[in-house]
Formats: sequence, C-alpha cells, structure tokens
Amino acid sequence: MNKSLIVIGSGFAGLSAASFMAKAGWKVTVLEKHNQPGGRARRLSANGFQFDMGPSWYWMPDIFQRYFEQFGKQVSDYYKLTRLDPSYRVYYENGPIDIPADYQALRHVFEKLEPGSAPKLDKFLHEAAYKYQVGIQKLVFKPGQSLTEFADIDLLKGIFKLDVFNSMKSHVASHFKDSRLQQLMEFPVLFLGALAEKTPALYSLMNYADIKGGTWYPEKGMYSIVEGMYQLALSLGVEFKFDEEVDRLELQGNQIKFVHTKNSSYKADAIVGSADYHHIETKLLPASARSYSETYWDSRVMAPSCLLYYVGINKKVSNMVHHSLFFDSSFEVHGKEIYVTKTWPQNPLFYVSASSITDPSCAPEGHENLFFLIPVAAGLKGDTEEVRNHYFNLVLERMERITGQSIREHIVFKQSFAYSEFVKEYNSFKGNAYGLANTLLQTAVLKPACRSKKVKNLFYAGQLTVPGPGVPPSLISGEVVANEVLKHFS
Ligand SMILES: Cc1cc2nc3c(=O)[nH]c(=O)nc-3n(C[C@H](O)[C@H](O)[C@H](O)COP(=O)(O)OP(=O)(O)OC[C@H]3O[C@@H](n4cnc5c(N)ncnc54)[C@H](O)[C@@H]3O)c2cc1C
Repeated sequence: MNKSLIVIGSGFAGLSAASFMAKAGWKVTVLEKHNQPGGRARRLSANGFQFDMGPSWYWMPDIFQRYFEQFGKQVSDYYKLTRLDPSYRVYYENGPIDIPADYQALRHVFEKLEPGSAPKLDKFLHEAAYKYQVGIQKLVFKPGQSLTEFADIDLLKGIFKLDVFNSMKSHVASHFKDSRLQQLMEFPVLFLGALAEKTPALYSLMNYADIKGGTWYPEKGMYSIVEGMYQLALSLGVEFKFDEEVDRLELQGNQIKFVHTKNSSYKADAIVGSADYHHIETKLLPASARSYSETYWDSRVMAPSCLLYYVGINKKVSNMVHHSLFFDSSFEVHGKEIYVTKTWPQNPLFYVSASSITDPSCAPEGHENLFFLIPVAAGLKGDTEEVRNHYFNLVLERMERITGQSIREHIVFKQSFAYSEFVKEYNSFKGNAYGLANTLLQTAVLKPACRSKKVKNLFYAGQLTVPGPGVPPSLISGEVVANEVLKHFS
C-alpha cells in the first residue's frame, strides 16, 4: 500500500511538498485553515478588484521554471509571464528614478548618479552572479541537517568569494558612495529581513536576481502561481481539505498518531508542517515533543511584519508604474525602528503596487488596484483602527504630493491587514510577514531544522526553516523537505 502524508497548510511550501510527495507515489492530503490555497499569497476579490494579498515581486524566474519542469511542465503551461520595464521606480527625496530592465540603460542611470559607478556595478554583479549560482547549486537545496552537507570542495574553495563574513552594508559602501545607489542595493535585504549591517554580503545575490534576473509579472497576478501549483498538485492526485484548521497533533511514543482538526482526525505515515513553525511547535504539539524552547524562539531575529492596505480607486493613476518604492524619508531611521528600537515608525519608507497598470483585468474598467505596504517591526502590537488610519493618511498624503495627483476622494474600496491579522489568519509568530531574518546566525544548519528533533515522523517546510523567506525559497523548501521525508521513510 502507498505510504501517506499529511501536509499542514497550502502556501507555496505546502503545495510544493505535496506535489513532490505525490509524484513519488505517496497518498497526500493537505489540510488548510482557509477556504483557498496560497497562504500569505492569497487573493482578495472585492467590488471587481483583485489584490494579491502578500507577495507582488516575481524574482528568480529560473526557480519557478525549474519547479514546473520537475513535473514535466513549463511555467507557460500555467501562466503568462511578462518582464516589467521599468522594473520599478524609486522616489527619492530629490526625485524619482526608474530602474530599467535593460542593463546598459541601468549602467547609464548609475553613471548619472555617481560618475564611475557603472564599472563598479559590473564588478558588483559579476561577484553577485557567482554567489547566486553557487547559492542555487550548492546551498539552498540542502536540508541544513548537518554541516557535512556543505563539505563541498568548490564551496570551500570559494568561501571568501561568497562573502559570508562581510556585511552587506560594507560591501555596498565599498562599491558605491551615492546614498541613492546604496539604498537601491540594500533595499532587498532591508525589506526581506534585516539591517544591511547584520546581513552577510552573500545576499548581494538578491541584487543579481533583481537586476539581471529581472522583475516579472504573471498575468492576473501572483495568485496565478498559486493556481498553477494547485492545479498541478490536483493532477498528481493530491487531496485538499479547506476550512480544515489543525488544532492538535496526538503522539504515540515519538511518532504522531493522529492529526486532529475541529471536524475530523487524520492518520498518516509522515506529516509536513508548512504552517508557521512556531505555531506547530508551540500550539499543536505537547511541550515534551518540542524541539525548541520559548527562549529560543524569543531570541530569533524576525523579518518584519507589515501594515498593508488594499485600496480600489475609481480612476487610473497618472504618472506611476507597477512597482513604486517611496524612499523619500530616512532609510536609516526606519531601518532602526524596524529592527533595533522596534517601535512604530515616525515617517516610514513604503511601497505601492498597482498591478492594474500592467494588467487592467485586476480592476474594473477605468479603476486601479493599489496595494500599500509599510514594513514594521515583528511583534509590534497596537495596530488599532486609529493607528492604521494614521499611517494610511501619512503614506497617502506623501504619495499624492510626490506623484502630483489626488487619490483620496477616488477611493471606493479599502481594507487593511496588519499584525493582528497575521496572527489570526496565519498563526504567525510575532505577526511576521516573511519569516526569519537572513542573518548569518540564522542560515542553513542554524535555522529551525526541517525535521523535528523529537518526533520521528514530523517535518517542517516554509519560510521559517531552510532555505528562508520569499516565494522561490518556499518552493524550494517544499522540495527539500519532500526529499528528507523520502530519505527517512522509503
Ligand atoms: C505582505 C507580504 C509581501 C511579500 N512580498 C513578497 C514578494 O514580493 N516576493 C516574494 O518572493 N516573497 C514575498 N513575500 C514572502 C512570501 O510571500 C512568503 O515567504 C511565502 O508566501 C511563504 O509561504 P509558506 O508556504 O512558507 O507560508 P504561508 O504562505 O504562510 O502558508 C502557510 C499556510 O498554513 C496555513 N495554516 C496556518 N495554520 C494552520 C493550521 N493550524 N492548520 C491548517 N493550516 C494552517 C495558512 O493558512 C497558510 O495557508 C511576502 C510576504 C508578505 C506577507
């Protein structure tokens, strides 16, 4: 008889793990709290508007292609991709700058901001390309269960080229002096996990992903990836149970015997928990079966939480592009408020996505779907209506002033999402949006392990374990954990 697997959660990591296990011949059942797959990447449909609730940047297209290819498919079997040009716009204090998709055009932008910086960009990206290639080939697909996984001759020879012991801040500063260029190179790590001074320069691989890999858009939005992965999983025989929140894992000895939900109980040979790791450990397992203590969890450096606003307006915006970063206030001050003082920001940086500029099908005709994101410290409570309104007014006023148009009186739909919803909707630890920060001490073997140290048939996937936060890493996480299950149970 086929072995059976239960996957808790149907975000990218859960969908990926489920499909790899079904492909290996296992009987797979996915139990999902919500009424749709996708997790943090769910879709909000309201008043004719479509919003991607979480991720909006499609980077590392090679990882998505690789994913589908392993099932004999192509990305194009599920959705149409377009490379955005410009990739995005950054509004600095002294004016906006478009980041063109074309590399030569980008070199001109760099030269204009800092004469002599284009050849430095070439060098920076040449090194980043190495990190990206080695990272993908030798690091991210490792389960992080033992240091011996990294005993690879090429890896050891290239360790200094990987820049693991240098910080992103000093790496960027050694190439570029202009503060706008520094911010441009630092923002991916700042938004996705930690201060540049705390992030290993290895993560300049993100700049390679950004600049060389490009920013892409899947037709109808990021949810098209979820739909594609869901269809693939169904075609492989995966069974999904929605509105089925797991509330307890019952053990017999050191194995999970039953997975309990409010409606039912399930049995399987192995379990992959792809909901937030901390939730599974501390809310679903008895204390004796936990791998990590509360002190351990409290000492983790978390990636930010977010204040999000989904806003529908009854006109088209003028003078804007699909992705806009508002860096018109202090990068340093906001960074400290997120990661050091962990306080509500005075005047935060923020990001606006308007996918309906590229894809009018995401909003009623003549309308626009605006998504506002303000990164805030994880664990920051107090997201009252008053606080949410304060920050919305603040960013809206800035956006109206900077882009020279009125938005407020055109709002026909508005919904916010913040700490409280992250906790309530995703059982998120400290309301984190993107999991654990990418610090050196939280890399590879130093991340929460993808196999429980105490429960033999319990495995973990998702953004709190290897390889880390983001959509591509979550896809990889599902594959890595599937291989681990097969290693131990075949
Ligand atoms: C606002 C925001 C913006 C982002 N932007 C980007 C971006 O632009 N690009 C990018 O690459 N990444 C981005 N990310 C990160 C990316 O979205 C995540 O890393 C990724 O979606 C995480 O997937 P996951 O499968 O690990 O977790 P999740 O998506 O959280 O999936 C976990 C699933 O488990 C379910 N669940 C929880 N508890 C239970 C339970 N007890 N029983 C059953 N089910 C349960 C949840 O409902 C959820 O469906 C963003 C994230 C957020 C929040």
